[in-house]
Amino acid sequence: MSVPIVVVGSVNADLRATVERHPQPGETVLGGDGTVTPGGKGANQALAAVRAGGRVAMVGAVGRDPNSDAALRLLRSQGPDLGAVDEVDGPTGVAVVMVAASGENAIIVIPGANATVDASAVERHRDLIEGAGVVVCQGEIPVDGIVQASELCESAGGRFILNLAPVIEVPSELILRADPLVVNEHEGALVAAMFDAGADTEALEADPSACVDLLMSQGCRSVVMTLGSKGSLVTVEDQVRAIPAERVEAVDTVGAGDAFVGALAARLADDGDLESACRSASGFAALTVTRPGAQASYPTAEEVAAT
Ligand code: AMP
Repeated sequence: MSVPIVVVGSVNADLRATVERHPQPGETVLGGDGTVTPGGKGANQALAAVRAGGRVAMVGAVGRDPNSDAALRLLRSQGPDLGAVDEVDGPTGVAVVMVAASGENAIIVIPGANATVDASAVERHRDLIEGAGVVVCQGEIPVDGIVQASELCESAGGRFILNLAPVIEVPSELILRADPLVVNEHEGALVAAMFDAGADTEALEADPSACVDLLMSQGCRSVVMTLGSKGSLVTVEDQVRAIPAERVEAVDTVGAGDAFVGALAARLADDGDLESACRSASGFAALTVTRPGAQASYPTAEEVAAT
């Protein structure tokens, strides 16, 4: 079976706790919320790509534990093909998200099964990846798994999208294979420093356009830099174009970046024009910030069609 979009990435159960303030070492504080919701950048992006109209399969792993049901709940009901999400020994990936009254987050990510999505696991799903027009990876699985997915995609003539979030140490060839590399301003500055250890990351973060120029001068094929409510930057040939964000009443921006990447992949699978794909992804991501949660905030295909 061939599917146009394959997301190779993480699947997590997110445990959310609200706290008055973050605990000090050795301290116990009372918290609220306590809900477990589906998350993981890979899973978020796969669901977003489906909701944005794409036909999607996911390559990843969950553990044999009750958290796997929580992690896959929304994906199972209306999401991508999950035949290549392996069930492995050990726990499902978990993110413990603590939100303080000040709004400051502290997050612990336990990779669990995501750590098994290495080159050999990816290789087992070679046919699926080689059959895809677009392959999407993030930084929450082992580097050799990402590299393997990118190589299979490239040799089969597909388009490789790399959302290097979080930024992990990767070979520069991997970054140069991405078309586009998708990063926010903070991640972009860290990636630039991988090419040029002397780069002033603070100055680059403060000047996103200069950071995109620097990444292109290092040989990136294309770059998309997301800037929250300020929209995004996209390279067209060697030019950097700004795409404004839609003006909306933002209530929760968690998962907005993943929504953007998933919608971008869905659009690029249909039509290779990166600038129009970014405009469409901006519209999709703007809808998600108007409601709480990550996957729960993603608009349905009907809502997308109505915009
Ligand atoms: P971020 O990961 O925060 O840079 O967000 C990804 C994308 O989501 C941005 O490039 C925007 O298109 C969209 N977005 C994020 N925050 C907002 C916001 N407050 N208002 C409108 N769009 C937003």
